[in-house]
Amino acid sequence: MIVDLHCHSNASDGALSPDLLVRRAVERGVDTLAITDHDTIDAYAKLRAAELPAIRLIPGIEFSARWRQMSVHIVGLDIDLDSATLAAAIRQQKAARRKRAAEISARLAKRGIEDALEGALSFAGEATIGRPHFAAHLVARSYVRSPAEAFRKYLGAGKAGDVKQHWPEMRDVIDWIRSADGIAVLAHPAKYKLTNVRLAELTDAFRAEGGQAIEVISGQQSIDVTRRLAKLCTDRGLLASCGSDFHGPEQPWSELGRFGPLPDACRPVWELW
Ligand code: AMP
Ligand code: MN
Ligand code: MN
Ligand code: MN
Repeated sequence: MIVDLHCHSNASDGALSPDLLVRRAVERGVDTLAITDHDTIDAYAKLRAAELPAIRLIPGIEFSARWRQMSVHIVGLDIDLDSATLAAAIRQQKAARRKRAAEISARLAKRGIEDALEGALSFAGEATIGRPHFAAHLVARSYVRSPAEAFRKYLGAGKAGDVKQHWPEMRDVIDWIRSADGIAVLAHPAKYKLTNVRLAELTDAFRAEGGQAIEVISGQQSIDVTRRLAKLCTDRGLLASCGSDFHGPEQPWSELGRFGPLPDACRPVWELW
């Protein structure tokens, strides 16, 4: 059984439409899929209208949040798509993303980059706007040669485009997910590049605030990372999630359903549904 509980459609920063994403998942043998777009559930509205192949879809979202001075991502799984709290939360995040985009653009302008907001908006279209849309603009205008270089020079942690203050506190995001009857999952804990002590602090705070699971597997990762996260998960009595964090076929290092199994010691999050 292949369960992929983290991926993106073009409703946020993914490349594929929701129905193409689902079809690709089926082709890769995925049985259960959660589409977890950044701060939006628009993919699910689009899928309601589409003719879908046989697959189990778990309603999901990936919220941006703040913990201390860091930005963290919290996935909500098995959420009620009709929740009024969720709808209000998504409106708040869309407004935060718009404000943040304006600020990113102003900061890039000081570094000589022109028309960043207009450019990013044109790449985003109807999707929630994010740094990958700025990266696309930087590539299109030849400021950089690749999105990776855009992040390295302008958008990544500590660079001009790294704007975090618009995100809500992690605690509030966990509350949103739980009031939408969902399961709050700490996304890709190894990507925050924290020491063991700090990662344990983050995990303890997440759990104390109502978080229920962590992503023990996020895409293709080393055995050392899997061991570290599995231990964190079982020591803290949390459930384990897994997903590819697939964004599109142009990122060949990440593919739907392609990642190692959850370690036996971990209780999978799907025990809850
Ligand atoms: P945002 O949602 O605006 O904070 O943008 C974060 C997104 O940017 C992540 O979800 C990734 O899809 C993408 N991203 C982050 N780091 C990189 C990188 N180094 N290269 C390419 N894309 C990245
Ligand atoms: Mn993304
Ligand atoms: Mn993420
Ligand atoms: Mn993601």
